[in-house]
Amino acid sequence: MPVLPRRVATLSVHTSPLEQPGAGDAGGMNVYVVEVSRRLAARGIAVDVFTRATSSEQPPVVEMAPGVTVRHVSAGPFEGLGKNELPAQMCAFTAAVLREEAQHDPGHFDVVHSHYWLSGQVGWLARDRWGVPLVHSAHTLAKVKNAALAEGDDPEPRARVIGEEQVVAEADRLVANTAEEARQLVDFYDADPRRTLVIPPGVDLQRFRPGDRQRARQRVGVPADAVVLLFVGRIQPLKAPDMLLQAAARMLADDPSLRARLQVLVVGAPSGSGLAEPQRLQELAVSLGVTDVVRFIPPQAPEQLADHYRAADVAVVPSHNESFGLVALEAQACGTPVVAAAVGGLCTAVDDGVSGLLVAGRDPEGYASAIRRVLARRELLAAGARRHAAAFSWDRTTDSLVGAYAAAMAELRDTRPAIRPAERFRSAVGLRAR
Ligand code: UDP
Repeated sequence: MPVLPRRVATLSVHTSPLEQPGAGDAGGMNVYVVEVSRRLAARGIAVDVFTRATSSEQPPVVEMAPGVTVRHVSAGPFEGLGKNELPAQMCAFTAAVLREEAQHDPGHFDVVHSHYWLSGQVGWLARDRWGVPLVHSAHTLAKVKNAALAEGDDPEPRARVIGEEQVVAEADRLVANTAEEARQLVDFYDADPRRTLVIPPGVDLQRFRPGDRQRARQRVGVPADAVVLLFVGRIQPLKAPDMLLQAAARMLADDPSLRARLQVLVVGAPSGSGLAEPQRLQELAVSLGVTDVVRFIPPQAPEQLADHYRAADVAVVPSHNESFGLVALEAQACGTPVVAAAVGGLCTAVDDGVSGLLVAGRDPEGYASAIRRVLARRELLAAGARRHAAAFSWDRTTDSLVGAYAAAMAELRDTRPAIRPAERFRSAVGLRAR
């Protein structure tokens, strides 16, 4: 029987699982941490999530769910720090994590699971200090992102590339969302393939489920006979909501009678380098002559978001790159087919021709044509979408992660001396063990 962890230190430095996804730095990674942490706790594995405090109003400790504790760590000013300024705060963050653990008996945490490279840097030190394995999820990779930059998007800095390389070299296990991400870790970052695991994320099928489309349309405020195209996500160049506006303009040019029924819903708020993006999108809508059919909607909580998915005829995910693309999966779970870019994790998240269509290249006509084709056989694709989404589940993600934690713990027991690195150092310099 493998020895399972009893307590996991989950590191999510730059964004809190308590934040509303769909704006700023909060997106799929936050959803991932919430869903997995809850399920680990339900299996009797306690989780402490360490995240940087971003407001004086946040209590230092919040019980997110039974067995899941969110710890807001003071590291730098609460507000006004961009993600690219955070590397300078990693020492303060790490010190706080180590101090929290030092208040308990040795062996308090069995595993460190870091999310995104900044957390990986913290986890690297914690792993060495505590003598436990480091499991790392990159979520996005700088080299991959820089290879497919959107116009107007800033390249990821060299410091991140170096930092990611270090974390990849140090981690006991790397968790990739898809086989492609695993290959990128090996090819671009020289990851050890034996320590690189593919564990797909999931979707909450209770929350994101098909429902009465007309009732959903009433709640969302679109007419029963509308043709509804939906974009959901952070408004930034990488996600390319402008592609949907351009595709809609093509569809209207081809079929002016559609104007009376077409509704383009753009759900989300700006993020990172996309702060000027809403303004740019509004201007684009004006220049394309589509303002009357486009509605911008602020980020939605999951229940309301599910109604938007159900209300839509097609969800469109035209990103330049995605390590996975939870939005595509959630839309399909609600019975809505997806038109997505044939890039990264979207090639796994969408079953091309079965649950939607993948579009190669970045031609608005390609998107317009794919949307038309999906509309023409929506019922068939909707059934395929529900089936495809049902193959993913957070319970399965969690089971696989528990297996990865246990394997990494066993490997460490077998291959490393019983004395933890810090104690080795202490005894070497003649200090008393803690
Ligand atoms: N999301 C949300 N409300 C919104 C917009 C997005 O809760 O208004 C959530 C959405 O349900 C999804 C996540 O944000 O789970 C976005 O994840 P995805 O993988 O699509 O993109 P990421 O933000 O990670 O780049």
